[in-house]
Amino acid sequence: MNSQTQLIGLIGHPVSHSKSPEMHNGMFAKLDLNYVYLAFDVPPSHLKEAIEGMKALKIKGFNVTIPHKVEVMKYLDQVSEEAKQIGAVNTIVNDEGRLIGYNTDGIGYLRSLIEETGVQLKGKRVLILGAGGAARAIGYTIANSPIGQLTIINRDQNKAHILRKSLEQYTKTDVLSIEQMEKGVKEADIIVNTTSIGMAPNIDQSLIKKEWIQPNHLVSDIIYNPLETKLIQEARSQGAQVHSGLGMFIYQGVIAFEKWTGITPDPSYMRLKVIESIKEKGRNTC
Ligand code: NAP
Repeated sequence: MNSQTQLIGLIGHPVSHSKSPEMHNGMFAKLDLNYVYLAFDVPPSHLKEAIEGMKALKIKGFNVTIPHKVEVMKYLDQVSEEAKQIGAVNTIVNDEGRLIGYNTDGIGYLRSLIEETGVQLKGKRVLILGAGGAARAIGYTIANSPIGQLTIINRDQNKAHILRKSLEQYTKTDVLSIEQMEKGVKEADIIVNTTSIGMAPNIDQSLIKKEWIQPNHLVSDIIYNPLETKLIQEARSQGAQVHSGLGMFIYQGVIAFEKWTGITPDPSYMRLKVIESIKEKGRNTC
């Protein structure tokens, strides 16, 4: 064991429903690592001081969540190329006084998708629903994989075009309107919902009509509250392969854990800890 306890923090506003403390503290305990993970509710007016405090107190690492993922970048010494391209940081490592920002959301999503479904991405046509923060992270990562084509549909079409412009340097990318959803679904191999449609408490909502989904589709929804959305349930009933959002949350945490500690954690144990916590408290957030 290390002689001095290392602190990892989550900064966001709010943070009270996060499952990250249970997930990381459970893993630290299982591996007998002398680390502790705490959530700090930091309003935007105190973000700068929180980051200065991280340096002053030699806090080893932070996770960063809404609303600080973009703003925090200007207080860091270095930002990874991936996080720069995505335009957001969700993980900070304090490397002996130098604060380095990363984004583990996109790569966490991709690792979970591949490990849980076994999908071969080469040449696949991918439809992303949404153009918010999660769509930017997933879009960047998936556009840099060997897929054949990316289509974006978002309620606010301007945001979809901004995302398209940032991704078309990596893969063929286009935008469809929300009215063209049926066409987008029918022409896709993989459909990824990154919008908040279907999230609790609005669990009876889906952007896609059940009958548009075919057995050859892979339907992925990054929401994990509920653990299975209406979209995932309907896709399964149509015979499609499905992938739900918990894996993304687990793997973004796995990659952050590796960056802070240099140790590879056990994803299935982290998943168990999160599911236990969801069952205990009945609420969750990223
Ligand atoms: P965000 O930046 O606020 O983006 C929200 C997206 O949802 C936007 O594309 C927005 O469209 C769309 N949307 C919201 N309400 C809508 C409606 N009524 N009709 C159509 N589209 C609507 O949020 P985010 O950070 O990307 O998160 C999105 C979801 O992903 C949340 O449910 C979050 O919990 C989940 N998430 C999961 C993980 C994980 O680890 N599994 C990680 C991150 C996020 P407009 O642009 O038109 O407003």
